[in-house]
Amino acid sequence: MRVICEGFPGKMANGYMGWSSVVLVEQREKKILFDTGGIDKRVDLCPDLLAAGAHPEEIDYLVISHFHLDHIYNYDYFPNAEIILHSDELAYARKGEDPWQPHHLLAPVEKTGRLRCVRGGETLASGISVIHLPGHTPGCMGLVLEDPALPLTVLAGDAIKTIAEMATGKAPMTSAPEQTYASVKKVRSFARQVVPGHDRLLVLEKDRVMARVAARRTIIIPPDIVDRGKERRLELTLEQTWLPFCNGL
Ligand SMILES: [Zn+2]
Repeated sequence: MRVICEGFPGKMANGYMGWSSVVLVEQREKKILFDTGGIDKRVDLCPDLLAAGAHPEEIDYLVISHFHLDHIYNYDYFPNAEIILHSDELAYARKGEDPWQPHHLLAPVEKTGRLRCVRGGETLASGISVIHLPGHTPGCMGLVLEDPALPLTVLAGDAIKTIAEMATGKAPMTSAPEQTYASVKKVRSFARQVVPGHDRLLVLEKDRVMARVAARRTIIIPPDIVDRGKERRLELTLEQTWLPFCNGL
């Protein structure tokens, strides 16, 4: 498993800043990409994938955790992949009511002829299965990775966006808070490691969840805009941290 893009939980006060996680899973039979990032990954996604040793044409399964724009947007880079979506998410996308969905992409995705709907419990490849995690959207899904070389891992998408949601079971931007709580609890019951939709890799211990690495992002303002003759750099750092699990999780 390689995290091609590490998610980030920041957002703008007045707009969109969605850095969602993109994960490459390679095993003997198949290459799987979990989510595609949003428009912010449009330029970098394929180079990043190539740097990780996988060509976009080699991706067998493009697993879309849910039909939000920062997860599905770059689906078209993978001409040979089956596009895997939970059947409840397709039904939800067809309603066209969620403003975070890129509605103009639904028909092109369906026209590829490569869209495959799945349900929780289905196996994609040996040791890799689908888990239905509704809440953020009705058809949110993750992948369970049972690889002897890894702690039991869940790629959670936006069913669990951050360390705070993993620790509390509570989340902003959920269509059904009680479902979100149940989905977090389900993952908590067996997983040892979680890749959340918008945060760092999380390690689940007996009574706490840890983000063992810091995340650093730099915002660059070009020269002469703020400082004459030089650029201004704003550093954002999320330190490594941990949170206790709330009661009931
Ligand atoms: Zn989302």
